[in-house]
Amino acid sequence: MMKVLVINAGSSSVKYYLYEMPQAQVLARGSVERIGEKTSKLTHVFGSQTYASDVSTPDVDEAVHLVLDTLVDEDVGVLDDFSEVGAVGHRVVHGGEEFTGSMLVDEHVITSIEKFADLAPLHNPPNLAGIRAVGAKLPGVTQVACFDTAFHTTIPKVAYLYGLPYELYEKYRIRRYGFHGISHRYVARRVAALMNRGKYDVNAITCHLGNGCSITAVKNGHSIDTSMGFTPLEGVPMGTRSGDLDPAILFYLVDKGYDPQSLKTLCNKKSGLLGISGLSNDIRNLLELSAQGNKRATLAIDVFCYRIRKYIGAYAAVLEPFDAIAFTGGIGENAVRLREQICGGMSQLGVQLDRTANEAATGTEAPISAPASRVKVFVVPTNEQVAIAKDTYELANQGHPVASR
Ligand code: ADP
Repeated sequence: MMKVLVINAGSSSVKYYLYEMPQAQVLARGSVERIGEKTSKLTHVFGSQTYASDVSTPDVDEAVHLVLDTLVDEDVGVLDDFSEVGAVGHRVVHGGEEFTGSMLVDEHVITSIEKFADLAPLHNPPNLAGIRAVGAKLPGVTQVACFDTAFHTTIPKVAYLYGLPYELYEKYRIRRYGFHGISHRYVARRVAALMNRGKYDVNAITCHLGNGCSITAVKNGHSIDTSMGFTPLEGVPMGTRSGDLDPAILFYLVDKGYDPQSLKTLCNKKSGLLGISGLSNDIRNLLELSAQGNKRATLAIDVFCYRIRKYIGAYAAVLEPFDAIAFTGGIGENAVRLREQICGGMSQLGVQLDRTANEAATGTEAPISAPASRVKVFVVPTNEQVAIAKDTYELANQGHPVASR
């Protein structure tokens, strides 16, 4: 048995989970939100109790220290001291082309995460700050980096190259990397288990639909294509991100007076469901407004579902044959109507939903396809933290990389 701490350190929040491994029992979990604002909020759940407090955490470093102090706190802590923590696993967004699986953190891994910050400037620096804060407080503890890009390192060149001059790939490594890999891998493995197959014996299309959305084609258990690209901006429209665009739109807007910063904000923060509806980035609000007859809300939902269908169609063509579609993420796990809209009219691909099963599956793992459907459809609540805890536990015990493959 070993206690494994999982840290997901972002620029404005740090989430944490303390597990007893290998059974993956949650001993405590929580978050520090609104890091860097006037007051931050600590939420700490242990057993059936929740402790919440307004705190001051100017940066990720302070937030991680607060999390660690809370875990050994006399009143609300669950550890007597830090020596009880066997290993710490971190979510790291970008591992470039280098990391094909989770890695024990050493100087080389740290230098590489720093180097790839060029490709993920909003994510890798806080991820690394989390690793450093743990290292300072728990010197010598085994730390593991689990990369969002690792699962996608099996994507072949034909799928990861853009139609740009090859020199740009050689010089700047401009290519499709893909993200949400920890989630897609977890879901693909669950689909294999739900179908009573070996983990490399399944061809599936996994749809991670949350605030960020990505679709992945999984062949024989490996990612062979994914909708997010060089950055998480590519693919289907998301809460506030545009997804795929004709790049000439951006040149046109430059001619109209937009500067690079305003285009970045436009595509990342003002587009997608929010941009099309002009109302909200939250699908729950849009579903409610659409039900009340709001046309722009309906339009945003329709564009979203249409573009997801197109990706499923494209990946069905490259997988040939495919056994399953899986939905995950806040939208994928809960939005019954959207799943119905996305999968409706796909009988030619062998996809047929079971209406009742679809309606019953909200936030629970369940098959939602009709018995006669050739392609099985599943709802699989994602569990990135458990995937990180498992990799961390394995690596801490074995000492060699856990391959994503
Ligand atoms: P993140 O990508 O930030 O982890 P989530 O996976 O939590 O985000 O997904 C957020 C999205 O999930 C939002 O658009 C939200 O509206 C949607 N969502 C959450 N709960 C429900 C629900 N019960 N029904 C429909 N949509 C939901």
